[in-house]
Amino acid sequence: MGDEFLHSENTQTQTQNSQLEWSQNNTPAFIPTIWGRLYSTKLNLAGRYLWSNPNHQEYHDLIQPEFSLGRAFTCSFVLNKNMIKENIIRNVSKQQFIIKRDLQETLNPAIITDLSYNGTFVNGVKIGKGNSRVLDDNDVIAITHELVKIFVFKDLLKNEQNQVPAHISQKYYISRILGQGACGIVKLVYDKEKCTKHAMKIIKKSRLTNGQINHLTDPVKIMNEINIMKALKHPCIVSTEEVFDTHEAVYIILELMQGGELFDRITKHGRLPERLTRFFFRQMVLAVTYLHSEGVTHRDLKPENVLLDSKHDEALVKITDFGLSKFVGEDSFMKTMCGTPLYLAPEVVRANGQNFYGHEVDVWSLGVILFICLVGYLPFSNEYKEMTLRDQILKGQFRYSPAHWKDISLEAKWLMKRMLTVQVERRITLDQILKHPWMQDDDIIIRVEKMLCHAAQIKNFDRLSLKSVEEKSDEENKNSVTVIKLIATGKRTLSDSYNSCEPNPKKLRMDIYSGSGNKTGDTSSATNSICSQE
Ligand code: ADP
Ligand code: MG
Repeated sequence: MGDEFLHSENTQTQTQNSQLEWSQNNTPAFIPTIWGRLYSTKLNLAGRYLWSNPNHQEYHDLIQPEFSLGRAFTCSFVLNKNMIKENIIRNVSKQQFIIKRDLQETLNPAIITDLSYNGTFVNGVKIGKGNSRVLDDNDVIAITHELVKIFVFKDLLKNEQNQVPAHISQKYYISRILGQGACGIVKLVYDKEKCTKHAMKIIKKSRLTNGQINHLTDPVKIMNEINIMKALKHPCIVSTEEVFDTHEAVYIILELMQGGELFDRITKHGRLPERLTRFFFRQMVLAVTYLHSEGVTHRDLKPENVLLDSKHDEALVKITDFGLSKFVGEDSFMKTMCGTPLYLAPEVVRANGQNFYGHEVDVWSLGVILFICLVGYLPFSNEYKEMTLRDQILKGQFRYSPAHWKDISLEAKWLMKRMLTVQVERRITLDQILKHPWMQDDDIIIRVEKMLCHAAQIKNFDRLSLKSVEEKSDEENKNSVTVIKLIATGKRTLSDSYNSCEPNPKKLRMDIYSGSGNKTGDTSSATNSICSQE
């Protein structure tokens, strides 16, 4: 649908006549997409073109997903001496280059591949035989020599609103929007030289500072934070690949996660089977253990910041948005995060965002995530009217619906309770979590270990160490039955009283669900062994 929308605008003027004819004949309105144009470059200021086609047009429309140029008659654009000087043609290969574009995927770029001996050049840089690169709007293509500029490429599908500073657009092709969060927008980008996909997070400075001076205006501090983020390397941490700090915004190039958010996985199934939860949870715990060992507290752990690398059930989990507080400044960060502290630890709530707390805050947030994965509703919420949200958290009074917990193992309940323990000294530690009885599942441990080692190998990370010992705790029942479930509406918010960072398109819709039945507990559609219930 997005494609049709995009294509129709660009082809409107070019296909006006043919559209008219078709509608008169009542022919189904197939409108060819002209996705790009190759304009002839002018040889001199007098206006002579390097080439023109038999219709005396100085441009060539790109409609097919593949375009080729060369001396061979099989090429879509055959160079001959009527068109271009003979001494140039002599050095052109039979197949000089091809340009491909996958029109199935919205807003993905055209890719040019050099097949020549004498070289194809984009903006003066040789691509090299067998190599590819992304073509962007206004790129100049030369053949045989960087000065034989034959085309200027016009990208007719490119979104005009994708304006980024020149030094960023020189390196990255900006594609579609992946999502929008509390502090900015995330876009799909392509490294033009490597043709690889990445995510780019744009944090606008003006939106955050409210005129006040904060970290964002201090380039030295920003560089420090960037270096810390870039140095963090773990298979379960979304890597920060590059950061551009400009006057207007911070642009963070991140590893692309193609499997969506854990949040969506939970809302899709209502809740996750216990084994699958254990599989994901183990990875989260390992990631946060690593962060802590590097001296970084995440502070914003929530299912939206847990991303998956593929759509498969057995996906690699990666945590993102650690260290973001450093970019948005302490004040703005706490204002954003404390609006409705669904995932915030009591010591943070009590301290009103003052920075008097340690790594344990992440254990609490992981406890909330574990809770939601297992039963699909929120442990703490403004909608639970018996007590304010603040008091629920300060007292550790999570909503316990026996109907939702009835099929969950005792060990899982123990672990959840040990994580949602108000007293920081008594709260379970990450090390203890890994040794907790609920986590002792050899199959899961091996699967996770294998997957992480494989991911670490690909990325050249150091090997990881995993351990196991036992630990126990009590279980306790409450009789509440009204719960707040997560509902994927496509629109979510971080909080009810959310007010700081604009825009705010994400909404975590709360749905009050009363009753004893567990409507959403059915996860029987799950197929592989990780998804099976114990
Ligand atoms: P939030 O405030 O909810 O954490 P973000 O600004 O971090 O929002 O992200 C906005 C959207 O972009 C989210 O929907 C998320 O799924 C998506 N996103 C963020 N980082 C990545 C990434 N590395 N790869 C793919 N999608 C991402
Ligand atoms: Mg995020």
